Amino acid sequence: MVVGRSGLGKSTFINTLFLAEINNLSERPQANSYGSTVCIEEKLVRLVENSVTLNLTLVDTPGFGDAVNNTKCWEPIVNYIESKFFEQFCEETRMDRNAKQIDKCVHLCLYFIEPSGHGLKPLDIELMHQLHGRVNVVPVIAKADCFTRDELRRFKNQIMRDAEAHDIKLYKFPEIEESLDKALAEKLKKTLPFAVVGSNYICEKDGRKIRFREYPWGTVEVEKSGAQRFFGAPRHDYSQKSD
Ligand code: GDP
Repeated sequence: MVVGRSGLGKSTFINTLFLAEINNLSERPQANSYGSTVCIEEKLVRLVENSVTLNLTLVDTPGFGDAVNNTKCWEPIVNYIESKFFEQFCEETRMDRNAKQIDKCVHLCLYFIEPSGHGLKPLDIELMHQLHGRVNVVPVIAKADCFTRDELRRFKNQIMRDAEAHDIKLYKFPEIEESLDKALAEKLKKTLPFAVVGSNYICEKDGRKIRFREYPWGTVEVEKSGAQRFFGAPRHDYSQKSD
């Protein structure tokens, strides 16, 4: 599930994450309105990687936080998660259980945070409070290209401090014994909240298709991290200036 105000780049990020136009892949779009401006949209995606097929349901929540009065705008989202739990519970407790049962629960919520640089907003805190006991909440800073490295580090620290101060239980990566995986898990733990850049623009570079964003100062390959992202020739040379 992806949650966050509209315009934060959720759809673009999902397309980037799965390297596809998910909107075109959707087999059974379903919109459930719960009497508010927030809609719940399910998109079924089949991901095939090295002969492993994964059927995934992506849930978008368009309209969240868009109204003038956002009191209880989180209700449709919470109701949806609860209804999926209930469906799963009914399925599991039936006498004639289907052997090929599909897991209907919502397992993960990517919570998109506005790149304001000012920590969590009251609406974020309220919704995260409602969500953290029902689903794994992974915070994601949207449009991370808005920040310098230092600003991003400070914003991440602020978000983690706000979460702790408001007793929000964010997803914790499991403790892993294996040394290699352990190092990776530790790295991921420190990276939270994730900071992402998405793009729907595709071009060919060195014989492979890449997703990029073009800025007045150069071009960025969004699937790479840190300084590796940058590959375009800057129009201005900032290299001589200090940080
Ligand atoms: P959604 O409403 O949250 O699904 O947002 P969209 O995916 O429709 O994106 C809204 C706008 O933000 C579009 O113009 C995107 O091109 C732009 N956008 C998406 N991701 C990024 C990003 O990482 N950085 C920047 N600067 N813009 C982005």
